[in-house]
Amino acid sequence: MVSFDEKDRFAIERDVMIRLHLAGRDITDRAVLEVMRELPREYFVPPNYEAEAYADRPLPVGLGQTISQPYIVALMTQCLNLNRRCDVLELGTGSGYQTAVLAKLANQVYTIERHNQLSESAQAVLARLGIDNVQYYIGDGSCGWCEPKQFDRILITAAVPDIPEPLVEQLCQDGLIVAPVGGEFTQDLVVCRKVKGRLQSKFICGCRFVKLIGKYAFDET
Ligand code: SAM
Repeated sequence: MVSFDEKDRFAIERDVMIRLHLAGRDITDRAVLEVMRELPREYFVPPNYEAEAYADRPLPVGLGQTISQPYIVALMTQCLNLNRRCDVLELGTGSGYQTAVLAKLANQVYTIERHNQLSESAQAVLARLGIDNVQYYIGDGSCGWCEPKQFDRILITAAVPDIPEPLVEQLCQDGLIVAPVGGEFTQDLVVCRKVKGRLQSKFICGCRFVKLIGKYAFDET
């Protein structure tokens, strides 16, 4: 249970996050900044990490997984260049924080998580926040959405050795994929546009994500 004093404290910390860690760097998309100013990030972290909810670093969410650093969430969202007509596929629901940011900026979000426990907890937080434009699937996101569907945007929130082919097939012409591509320990964050059926890739920055584990990604071991 969060008391009034804590509510005030989180509001101040959220403001510092926006001004110092996001706008103070290269996050210029006002819609992204507004949404992240609204969302209570403390709802998405385990109770023993609430006090650190606005620190600009990833935090553990259980099962060896993390909620991504706020700056990286903002950067990836900005790179997606979203509008209210976009249908977005997200791989790696995790805590649901990034899912909530996407849901506030897009038409429909389709999110896949391989751990049942994480997906269920994310679903409960988004329901508590009244976010109802999200569909959830538990399984291997590297194989794409479970039904035939084309997406305007795809966000991969875990490291992949390459963009999985099923995702290229489910991306609309001119659509964008944002993903950390590389090895197990370090990756390049890239934004790829689908032009005439092929991806054209642009480097954004170096990054470090947990692995996407699946048929078209990394092995578990
Ligand atoms: N976006 C999340 C957030 O805001 O909390 C953080 C995602 S975390 C860095 C990566 C997530 O990808 C983990 O929850 C992990 O279980 C999930 N994951 C790994 N392999 C997956 C796969 N093949 N399909 C779906 N999710 C996967």
